[in-house]
Amino acid sequence: MENNKTAPRLTDVGYIRELLTRHGFQFSKKLGQNFLINPSVCPRMAEACGADADSGVLEIGPGIGVLTRELGLRAGRVVAIELDDRLPPVLAETLAGMDHVSVVQGDCMKLNLHALLAEQFGDRPVAVCANLPYYITSPIIMNLLESRLPVENITVMVQKEAAQRLCAVPGTRQAGAVTLAVQYYAEAETLFTVSRGSFMPAPNVDSAVIRLTIRKQPPCEVKDEKVLFRLIRAGFGQRRKTLLNSLAAAGFTKAQITAALDAAGIAPAARAEELTLPQWAAIADGIA
Ligand code: SAM
Repeated sequence: MENNKTAPRLTDVGYIRELLTRHGFQFSKKLGQNFLINPSVCPRMAEACGADADSGVLEIGPGIGVLTRELGLRAGRVVAIELDDRLPPVLAETLAGMDHVSVVQGDCMKLNLHALLAEQFGDRPVAVCANLPYYITSPIIMNLLESRLPVENITVMVQKEAAQRLCAVPGTRQAGAVTLAVQYYAEAETLFTVSRGSFMPAPNVDSAVIRLTIRKQPPCEVKDEKVLFRLIRAGFGQRRKTLLNSLAAAGFTKAQITAALDAAGIAPAARAEELTLPQWAAIADGIA
């Protein structure tokens, strides 16, 4: 077990400045680099993803390793993917002595994550835990969900507004296309909020940690998932229009849409945000 007195103080602003100056590192806004400096956040995230001696954790964007270390203190194996090639030398220093923690330099949107998981974690149950770069939050989450990466949960920090959308209840005004997609693959919950002052440099918005617990089965059956998501995207693409008008953007005729809405018992004047996932599935089955 590591000695806490010798552990690098990764939430100490003075220590971080000294570390980064020594490595000639400057923050990149483009890469969404806001590092956590609130000491209570990373332990809570590491606990929330269920990391333990038998499990593995995939982290996206370790930065200088503040969350990575907390994951490393709990999980049997940790793999962290970092895009910025200036950070692995920093991480080699901050993660020294944690032999079960590895850093992979690359873009999480381009790496073959299925192969990476199989190779790095074998049969271990795996969780994803990360403070996500904000410029690419939804694409990363959708990529993990749609590729059906075999993970138990995705426990991530995102902007507060993104959290509200990702965890909204379908059929309410907060819901968007991404809400329905998340609901299809996972059970979503907001765990806690984190103020902007918890980061260095401080962003302009507050954040929240959410947990998406992956479902073993989708909550409703649908004949063709592609049609389902095409319709959902079209509906929310023009969310103020009635379904009869907005769904035409998915490439269907008004006659097809009218028939499908009728079969599903949904008024043609309804709007996308009013529908639940089973209702979307009923429309998709009526059209497919
Ligand atoms: N985990 C650290 C923390 O909490 O302090 C850093 C989080 S910072 C919000 C996001 C991190 O993601 C940065 O280190 C950034 O370089 C990295 N990053 C950005 N785009 C990425 C991508 N496509 N793939 C992997 N890492 C990425």
